[in-house]
Amino acid sequence: MKELKGKARELLMQAMEGEQRVVVVSGAGISAESGIPTFRGVEGYWQVGSKNYHPHELATLSAFRRQPREVWSWYLYRRGVCLRAEPNAAHHALVRLEQHLNERFTLVTQNVDGLHGRAGASREQTYEVHGNIRFMRFDDVGELDPRLIPEELSTDWARGRQVHDDEINYLRHACGVLGRPHVLWFDEYYDETRFRYDSTLRAAEAADLLLVVGSSGTTNLPVQVAERVSERNIPFIVVNKDVDSYFVDLAQHSQTGAVLIGNASEWIPVVVDQLIKAM
Ligand code: NAD
Repeated sequence: MKELKGKARELLMQAMEGEQRVVVVSGAGISAESGIPTFRGVEGYWQVGSKNYHPHELATLSAFRRQPREVWSWYLYRRGVCLRAEPNAAHHALVRLEQHLNERFTLVTQNVDGLHGRAGASREQTYEVHGNIRFMRFDDVGELDPRLIPEELSTDWARGRQVHDDEINYLRHACGVLGRPHVLWFDEYYDETRFRYDSTLRAAEAADLLLVVGSSGTTNLPVQVAERVSERNIPFIVVNKDVDSYFVDLAQHSQTGAVLIGNASEWIPVVVDQLIKAM
């Protein structure tokens, strides 16, 4: 069992004096121990014909416009991986923290896997700032609300399997227009309606403690959250398996930052226990 010591412990104790607000930013690393690959390793790649694509090339609107079937095949495969995975101790621990803090808790997740919600995180306090892979939407016909991807599309999707003609029809609107995965792609912009952009920045401005877990810091909004918190000299703790990440760097160079190197499923329950004890 890990034990909290030194600066991280001091910052947590200091942060929890009074009616404090906690913001948690989670990234792909928190779900890695549930068996969902991050975008970093070789498992993230996807082969189309003889070419291997990095996720950053496929998770774009321009790739979807060019090769919608290939992008859909990749998403249907990833949807299956996410739906078959189970939340781990880190997801569950964050639910306990939410239950203690209620509306003083905000979870900003970059993950599209829905594991926080399946662990019991509330819809109100969870901002899925990159969408949710179980859903699709029809921007091209001006429909705002995402719809669940029809269950006729198998969740037992083999790696590399392409979507068939009859299956692609489940992804069409009644008018024939093809829907798209309900995610934010790398060449797109955040907004409030779908991705809670303004709400996230407001939560960052009001935070008394920031916890960043399992994120490399390559996406814009989570980086803005950490920078706003760090500029205000608010305690922030970064949990990552690896030292090589933007957030680790930021925390190490900040007076009020601390880093816990190791697995999310080991550190987050310890951090949450400490916070609950300090309340
Ligand atoms: P990333 O793949 O860029 O980085 C993952 C980070 O997690 C790395 O810094 C890594 O060191 C760390 N990590 C890996 N295993 C860990 C563990 N067990 N405990 C603690 N840390 C661990 O992911 P990102 O920063 O979240 O962002 C990339 C984008 O990828 C996001 O837009 C996200 O939407 C998307 N994505 C989501 C999922 C998912 O929903 N599960 C999976 C892959 C990618």
